[in-house]
Amino acid sequence: MTDSTRTASPAVHLIGWTAFNADLMEKLTGWTTDADGGQALAEAAGRLCFKSWRKPRPETATNAGYLANILRQRHESVVEHATATFFVTGVSRSLLTELTRHRHLSLSVVSQRYVDESDAAMVLPPAATAEAQGIYEWAAEASKGWYRELVDGFTEAGMPRKQAREAARAVLPNMTETQFVVTANLRCWRDVLRRRWHVAADAEIRRFAGMMLDELRVLAPNVFQDFPAEPFGGDA
Ligand SMILES: Cc1cc2nc3c(=O)[nH]c(=O)nc-3n(C[C@H](O)[C@H](O)[C@H](O)COP(=O)(O)OP(=O)(O)OC[C@H]3O[C@@H](n4cnc5c(N)ncnc54)[C@H](O)[C@@H]3O)c2cc1C
Repeated sequence: MTDSTRTASPAVHLIGWTAFNADLMEKLTGWTTDADGGQALAEAAGRLCFKSWRKPRPETATNAGYLANILRQRHESVVEHATATFFVTGVSRSLLTELTRHRHLSLSVVSQRYVDESDAAMVLPPAATAEAQGIYEWAAEASKGWYRELVDGFTEAGMPRKQAREAARAVLPNMTETQFVVTANLRCWRDVLRRRWHVAADAEIRRFAGMMLDELRVLAPNVFQDFPAEPFGGDA
């Protein structure tokens, strides 16, 4: 890519996460655990179902052991109580199209109607080779040139800027960068990652899923303890 074609790389930042009031829960039930935040909340929700505040079995006495058992039994609704919110940048509009198919995600996305896209960054597919870059660059520059021409033409003709941008964006490519804030509960993240951290998934969303999994594993290792280091389906 030349200096004039801006490219963007994916970044995911955890900006929000469930808090858990351990002191109050202990006061109410006498139960304590060795985790905090959403993992503790999930355990609390699970234990309430059976009023199992005591821990007679050593294998389920820890948060990791308790959640492993819950996940094995597919009693996954208890992890719905915990949510994680990410600020995502450097992904393409085509990734966004695929991600929005997951109906339990909550998304707030940069508006292409309000925000000027005349210098939008592009996100190349992971498979883009050095030889292919010239084609992507040509497409990026040509489409941004047409976009600017259309916006100028429409605004000179008296159209408000928002309407001019919404009409002109039609010529921007799938590789145009987008940014969004996305929230989901941990059951939803597990479902999304089971499908997208998978060899059958598109390469860009698979890379994104791997990055999300890395973050979620730090945040809630016990909830994602059964997820593989390599994408699902690799041994099929
Ligand atoms: C490898 C891959 C290739 C794909 N290719 C295509 C493609 O070519 N074309 C295409 O259109 N899509 C494609 N998709 C998208 C796919 O069809 C799903 O839309 C996407 O994976 C979200 O899955 P979902 O609808 O099960 O999940 P979500 O919307 O995240 O919902 C989660 C779960 O909630 C339940 N649920 C949600 N809504 C309903 C409902 N209305 N009724 C009943 N149960 C519900 C279901 O159990 C569902 O699995 C592809 C996905 C993958 C992973």
